[in-house]
Amino acid sequence: MDNSSFNVLENYIKHIEEAFIISKTDKKGIITYANDKFCEISGYKREELIGQPHNIVRHPDVPSKVFKKLWETIKSKNIFTGVVKNRNKSGGTYVTEIKVFPIVIEDEIVEYISVRTDITAYAKEKEKDISLAKQNFKTERMRFKELANVAYVDNLTKVFNRLKFDELVETELLSAEKFDSSLSMAILDIDHFKKFNDTYGHLIGDEVLFMIAQYVQNTLRNTDIFARWGGEEFVILFRNTELEDAKDVANKLREGISKLKHNVAGEVTASFGVTQYQKFDTLKDFIQRCDNALYEAKANGRNRVEISK
Ligand code: GH3
Ligand code: MG
Ligand code: MG
Repeated sequence: MDNSSFNVLENYIKHIEEAFIISKTDKKGIITYANDKFCEISGYKREELIGQPHNIVRHPDVPSKVFKKLWETIKSKNIFTGVVKNRNKSGGTYVTEIKVFPIVIEDEIVEYISVRTDITAYAKEKEKDISLAKQNFKTERMRFKELANVAYVDNLTKVFNRLKFDELVETELLSAEKFDSSLSMAILDIDHFKKFNDTYGHLIGDEVLFMIAQYVQNTLRNTDIFARWGGEEFVILFRNTELEDAKDVANKLREGISKLKHNVAGEVTASFGVTQYQKFDTLKDFIQRCDNALYEAKANGRNRVEISK
């Protein structure tokens, strides 16, 4: 290349929109040239860059494996491309697309040229998009959870409602059938609740329902399923539990309920029917047997647990 074409080329490089530096391939990558754009985005004057090691613009966040890769690529006389963070003179960060070309003279790599395109604005937009998408996802998930709560939780007692129970019981029956595991159920019905309402009013009745539901919910194991069946009746599914054990838990609950005291209405009792799932039971059979046991408990004087085999 003669001198005049070199000058034209230099003039061109000086003014192009890409930031451009040349460094030596010594260990430090001493900078031998920087164009105007590179000075602009790095914040350094040309004379502050020339003679400095190349890592003057290196950002601490960029892992050394990236530089290792860069090095290997140009050593094998190939062009490295990537996206890197860079550090400017005042310690700020800018993001660039980078292309690094080795300069090979007589089969030896003497210097390398790095050409950077500033994509900071684009990267920021992308980051914003990502965080916005994350935020939206979170909000949607929360909204979905809230909706599920509204749909599945009984408004008065704050325990699962019938809809949720109907869904769960199907799964439990299939699982008991498939794995031959034991599954028991109890239906709990508050005693003389009509009289209660008549004496103290519906609002107090509601408070008593809430008090009992919360007590049962908090007393059961996490693996038990508890729901409001309707009115003043509740249902409990005991996973992996034999009839006798379910009966014991029901008795414990019955006793606990009888000891609760509402500040206006005082004490209240409940009756329980308990049964165990038998192979080939339909849901209807299972519930019917439990209801029969409850009927027995009422007939035998209330505040009792009866079982049906
Ligand atoms: P038993 O001991 O035979 O179960 O008598 P009981 O009076 O509890 O039974 P019954 O089925 O005759 O009456 C149930 C009562 O439960 C009727 C209704 O007033 C009351 N009840 C049902 N749902 C609610 C509710 O959401 N809030 C209130 N306060 N009362 C309710
Ligand atoms: Mg009832
Ligand atoms: Mg009742």
